[in-house]
Amino acid sequence: MQVAAEFITSAASANDFPRDGLPEVAFVGRSNVGKSSLINALVRRPVARTSAAPGKTRLANIYRVQRGSMPPLYLVDLPGYGYARAPRPGSGEARGLAGQRARDAAVQDFDVLVDAYFRRPAIRAVLLLVDARHPGLESDLDAARWLRSQRGGLGIVGTKVDKLTRTERARHTRELETLFDLPVALVSARTGEGLDDLWKMIASLPRTTAA
Ligand code: GDP
Repeated sequence: MQVAAEFITSAASANDFPRDGLPEVAFVGRSNVGKSSLINALVRRPVARTSAAPGKTRLANIYRVQRGSMPPLYLVDLPGYGYARAPRPGSGEARGLAGQRARDAAVQDFDVLVDAYFRRPAIRAVLLLVDARHPGLESDLDAARWLRSQRGGLGIVGTKVDKLTRTERARHTRELETLFDLPVALVSARTGEGLDDLWKMIASLPRTTAA
């Protein structure tokens, strides 16, 4: 199946988001969960910058994608949560006031931009990405609780499934379904496993129009 994809913009504020009314699929998840890799795997070319790129985590990267005869849509890679690029607690950089400020700033930037994204009118579905190896992390459950209060159909994507055995795949799928009570797809950006199912999920999630 042919997939056409182009990078549109890195949005830093509400003004930068698309306004032409195409449906959107937002990708939400912890930093390093594999959002950019998954977008590249879905469109089969390196449009999204993966973790090594500095500064990318505080922007929302937007791609216009058309797969086969599906109508075009935007994939929106929202900033990762979990203290994005701020220094890790315990590192030299993180100690003291400067470290605290950097952490606060990272959290605030995430909140402001993500809040702005969900406030604006758009036809949208949301994918919450979680590491398939670690179902039920508190920060992922928190994110799901928050996302449920927003408009937009919601699905759970377990990433990096290539790192699980067959038995673990079955068990973790059940765990994710029970924990989130939402549709679940397990994928690997590395091997391509699950990508067709994820496209099906994208096509079938309800798209809700914000007021
Ligand atoms: P992001 O911060 O959520 O955009 O995460 P990235 O896409 O940059 O990926 C973070 C790290 O996870 C990188 O080292 C990737 O190579 C790795 N990664 C991403 N997807 C997969 C996957 O499907 N399988 C494996 N084994 N590693 C992955």
